[in-house]
Amino acid sequence: MGDDGLTDRSLPSIEELQSRLFEVQDRISAASTDGATVAIVGVTKTFPAVLIRRALAAGLVLIGENYGQDLEAKAAELAGLDPAPQWHFIGQLQRNKIKRLAGIVDVWHTVDRSSIVSELEKRAPGAHIYVQVNTTDEPQKAGCSEAESAQIVDEARAAGLQIDGLMTIGPTSGEDPRPSFERLRSLAEQHGVGGLSMGMSGDYETAVACGATVVRLGSVLFGPRG
Ligand SMILES: *Cc1c(COP(=O)(O)O)cnc(C)c1O
Repeated sequence: MGDDGLTDRSLPSIEELQSRLFEVQDRISAASTDGATVAIVGVTKTFPAVLIRRALAAGLVLIGENYGQDLEAKAAELAGLDPAPQWHFIGQLQRNKIKRLAGIVDVWHTVDRSSIVSELEKRAPGAHIYVQVNTTDEPQKAGCSEAESAQIVDEARAAGLQIDGLMTIGPTSGEDPRPSFERLRSLAEQHGVGGLSMGMSGDYETAVACGATVVRLGSVLFGPRG
C-alpha cells in the first residue's frame, strides 16, 4: 500500500498526527497531579500499516494492536523500519495465538489467566506484561476479577515474567470511570507493581489524574475507525 494510495486519503497526515499528539500531551500534562511521564500507546487496530508509518514519523513509538493476524501482517509489512514500532498487544489473548505472536510483541497488556501466564512462560520467557483486571464487573469484558488478580500476579512473578503493571478498561456504558481507575491503582499498590495501563480516548484525562502511567489512544489520534 503506497503512501498516496486511494485508500489512504482519509487517513491523517504526519502533520495532523503531530498536532493531535501535541494536544494530547498538553492535556495529559494538565491532568497530571505529579508531572510524571505518561507513555502513549497509539492504537491502530483496523487501520492500515501506512498509518503506523505516519504515526512513527509523527513521534509515536508505542503501537497497540488488538488482533493477532492483523498484527502479524502489519509487522511483516513494516519489517526493517527505523525507528521500529514497539508493539503492544492489547486485544483478548488466546493461548494458541501466543506462539506466533511471541516474536513480534514487546509488551502484553491483557494477561488475565493462568493458562496465558504459562504459555508466555514457555513461548516468551521474561516477557513484559500487564495483568488485566476487570474493574467494572461487566460480564462481557476480559480481565481477571480483583480477587483473582493477586494470584495471577504471583503466578506471573513465579513464571519469571516482567510485570510492568496492571491494565484495565474503564466502564463502557458512560459511567464515571474514576472509581474503576482508583481501584486499579489501589490493587497495584497492594500487589507491589508500578505501572498502570488505563485510559482510552474518552477517559484518558481522568485516568492520568488517577495515576495512569500508560494510556492507550486510538480515535483521538487517528480519527474514527471504519
Ligand atoms: C480500541 C482500544 C483502545 C483505543 O480506543 P479509543 O477509544 O479509540 O482510544 C484502547 N484500549 C483497548 C484495550 C482497545 O481495545
